[in-house]
Amino acid sequence: METAKSFDAAAATQAWLATVPADKRKKSDAYFEGGYWLILWNFLLAAGISIFLLASRISARLRDFAERTCRGCRGSCQLPLQVVLYAIPYFLLLAALSFPLTVYENFYREHQYGLATQSFLPWFREQLIGLGVTLIAGTILLIVLYAVFRRAPRTWWIWGTVVMIIFLAALVFIAPVYIEPLFNTYKPITNPAIRDPILAMAQANEIPVKQVLEVDASRQTTRVSANVSGFLGTTRIALNDNLLKQCTLPEIRMVMAHEMGHYVLNHGAKLLTYFGIFILVGFALARFLFEAAVTRWGNKWGVRGIADPAGLPLLVLILSTLVFVLTPLVNTVVRVTEREADAFGINTSREPDGMAEVALKLGAYRKLDPTPLEEFIFFDHPSGRARIRMAMDWKAASLPAAESTAIQSGRTVH
Ligand SMILES: [Zn+2]
Repeated sequence: METAKSFDAAAATQAWLATVPADKRKKSDAYFEGGYWLILWNFLLAAGISIFLLASRISARLRDFAERTCRGCRGSCQLPLQVVLYAIPYFLLLAALSFPLTVYENFYREHQYGLATQSFLPWFREQLIGLGVTLIAGTILLIVLYAVFRRAPRTWWIWGTVVMIIFLAALVFIAPVYIEPLFNTYKPITNPAIRDPILAMAQANEIPVKQVLEVDASRQTTRVSANVSGFLGTTRIALNDNLLKQCTLPEIRMVMAHEMGHYVLNHGAKLLTYFGIFILVGFALARFLFEAAVTRWGNKWGVRGIADPAGLPLLVLILSTLVFVLTPLVNTVVRVTEREADAFGINTSREPDGMAEVALKLGAYRKLDPTPLEEFIFFDHPSGRARIRMAMDWKAASLPAAESTAIQSGRTVH
């Protein structure tokens, strides 16, 4: 107890951070800070493409083409088919026009910092698979949204929010079963030295799992990571193979306890609720901004109203502007749930040093020691410094071990 009390959490945090060589720190800081600018470039590109499609009347011509093609068909399929004939060329145009930035951000830059493991062709093949998923999911979403826009031209923002929440929940539900296997292989971990300590933590927290999964993330990246995905019956936790290769058992236990925290604290449903509120507010604002823009520029762009697919780039322009402005808020909502998972993780794994070691390893692609304002605006996970400090504060508190409390309560209670 005497030695534990003299433990200085702030000094210990600095000592951990000081173990990272200056050149390594400089490189990961540069990588992460470059990401700040990419948020801006991605927004400007999305806005530029939307304005271009509207002002050049390409969007209106796409709508005209969809209407002409559907003129022959009768009955209830006509309007949904028009949406499909607009949506597919729209998504293809969007992918083509943003391809240069996609290549720079997700291929060239990742290689530049030594984080990518794929050559161009396998990478490009995966981009095409991703585009296929976007075409299918995006088109289904637009068919439903435009049915809502036609039937409820004044209250579409309310029903549209309901559609978006159901769509997001469905996407998260099917992702581990149908989408993630398109890119990676998931298999159970068979090594009992790793599997059993993880299953013990799951058992201690009423998590109904019989296996722990490993994902071959090294196909795409050198990043150390783990994730929880799925919703309701499809929820699963997976460790990536980089983490298994580079981390010790205490570190692995800490990471898995963090992922279990997401599960036990019901973060999937909570984030869906938060995002549902963001979408509702965003759609409510979009309703007024869309009408104002159509009144002013509708004739010039050939956009008739919310139910007209030609107005899709305008809706995307308004919503991507709101998302861009709300970046700090969205990051903070996610970062707060990540901090909750960290607290659950440290209490369950009881591995403060393992937590510090992993925080340093994640520092390969996330700035370790940002200013508080930087962390508020740009971080969707706590920074390395914040995580190490949490671990060292936990260590300094020197909670009694499970065995000693059991003995104490055995003596005092009855
Ligand atoms: Zn997490």
